[in-house]
Amino acid sequence: MTAQVIDGKAFAATVREKVAGHVARLKADHGITPGLAVVLVGEDPASQVYVRSKGKQTVETGMNSFEHKLEADTSEADLLALIDQLNNDASVHGILVQLPLPGHLNEDLVINSIAPEKDVDGFHISNVGLLGTGQKSMVPCTPLGCLMMLRDHHGSISGMNAVVIGRSNIVGKPMAQLLLNDSATVTIAHSRTKDLPGVVKQADIVVAAVGRPEMVPGDWIKEGATVIDVGINRIDAPEKGEGKTRLVGDVHYESAAKVAGAITPVPGGVGPMTIACLLANTVTACCRANGLDEPEGLTA
Ligand code: NAP
Repeated sequence: MTAQVIDGKAFAATVREKVAGHVARLKADHGITPGLAVVLVGEDPASQVYVRSKGKQTVETGMNSFEHKLEADTSEADLLALIDQLNNDASVHGILVQLPLPGHLNEDLVINSIAPEKDVDGFHISNVGLLGTGQKSMVPCTPLGCLMMLRDHHGSISGMNAVVIGRSNIVGKPMAQLLLNDSATVTIAHSRTKDLPGVVKQADIVVAAVGRPEMVPGDWIKEGATVIDVGINRIDAPEKGEGKTRLVGDVHYESAAKVAGAITPVPGGVGPMTIACLLANTVTACCRANGLDEPEGLTA
């Protein structure tokens, strides 16, 4: 079997198109422009790239982008004061604080100071609780993107065996919750799981969110399973020249693609869906804030 490739780049483009269409309608019918505020503290190079990309795509879909770049030594009080200001700004519908924060700032405190209805990353404890109890919430972007691709590929995932490898708060746990809410039978595996290959072999759906390059080989995968590879790992690529690197996922793509029914590539799978879902969450937050119908298919 050769797996069907789930093209996250193309799928993300369709999500952005839907977002842009909805933004245009919000402007034309209600005179509302959704706005996303992104707060970056410090100069972490990867974070700077993410923030630039988020701002660019926000503007491309017709929304307002508000970027707040703060010095690395910004005090917690100053950061909390900015969040408070954004919480009370009616033109801001989504607030994202780029993680990781410098060590002197308490991430939990900062995230939990964002108004839950503007928490487009879905990390606020209220949103975690709402998702966990199957209520309407803001859903973390990466697992939301994975869910959208699974729903698109399968229609329904009800009753399927899903194994999520990884139990982080930003990917593994919310992913498991979303799969459960869609009535999959869910197992969460982690570093202490016994017989991981045997556990993965039971899965109709495998979501790998580990952060270990190519850890899941094809012979762990059940014939015909759907494999969603969240991992983004940079490894040396001497074949491309001295000092060159390349990106790989947590799944060994070549061997897994021979067994799986469908698979997301790295790059070009889950990655592009994450920012697309951030834009989707901002539109959803804007509609909720204004008591308007939410766009179809852009949230869980
Ligand atoms: P994380 O917080 O480091 O969590 C990794 C999880 O993997 C932990 O639960 C850990 O188990 C588990 N694990 C580690 N080694 C394992 C092993 N040998 N066997 C089984 N489980 C093992 O990572 P994360 O933030 O969830 O990110 C995971 C990956 O996704 C990373 O590559 C990251 O770059 C990528 N990512 C991609 C996107 C995107 O947009 N595509 C977004 C976020 C993250 P324990 O809990 O037992 O330690």
